[in-house]
Amino acid sequence: MCGIVGYIGVREASRVLIPGLKRLEYRGYDSAGIAVLHDGKVSVRKKAGRVQELASLIRALPIGGHVGIGHTRWATHGETTDENSHPHLGGNGEVAIVHNGVIENYVNMKNFLLQKGYTFSSQTDTEALVNLIAYHYAKEPENNGKNRFVESVRKALLHVQGTYGIAVLCKDHPGEIVAARKGSPLIIGLGDNENLIASDASALALKTSRVIYLKDGELALVSDRSHRVI
Ligand code: GLU
Repeated sequence: MCGIVGYIGVREASRVLIPGLKRLEYRGYDSAGIAVLHDGKVSVRKKAGRVQELASLIRALPIGGHVGIGHTRWATHGETTDENSHPHLGGNGEVAIVHNGVIENYVNMKNFLLQKGYTFSSQTDTEALVNLIAYHYAKEPENNGKNRFVESVRKALLHVQGTYGIAVLCKDHPGEIVAARKGSPLIIGLGDNENLIASDASALALKTSRVIYLKDGELALVSDRSHRVI
């Protein structure tokens, strides 16, 4: 179980995520990656190896945008490869996830999704969860007064056996990150016109002590100026 950082606000997301991941390095990890949402598209940079190598990759191939999620992985399912590093994308790239923990029933989940035509590019348990979120997102009605993104994450999590701390992006919801936890820590750091998500208080570099500790089983919708725990 390793590190998560999420950022939404006025600053360039990658400039907050990379230092945040560096602050989580002390926990140990084997791979690192970030996903940033910009102009209706989720871009991912990820790599087996050190955060420093990810930072070099991002210098060579920058990703702009003010909403993003980052991860340091400690592999439990699948080898230490670039493909198995997080973030993982679901469906046709409409959702992206970073995950700490273990999805114990991922084989059943994956078999169900393969039958429905979903494809997989990693050996991780996490990719089954992000595709299940994409599956629920596709099924969820658009205008029933509920937040379609939140509902799809909530419904997918009902099927999970195991542990998770997750942060999720959706390309149709550029002003929002959904975070949730069960058996794996997750906190929200509240700033001025910016908010962060992290698995560990040491990753937060906000000039604030306003920190919310999500309780086990809680889900939060986080935007740059607000947060709602559900
Ligand atoms: N089970 C996931 C994987 O192996 C997440 C591991 C972690 O918590 O870093 O990719």
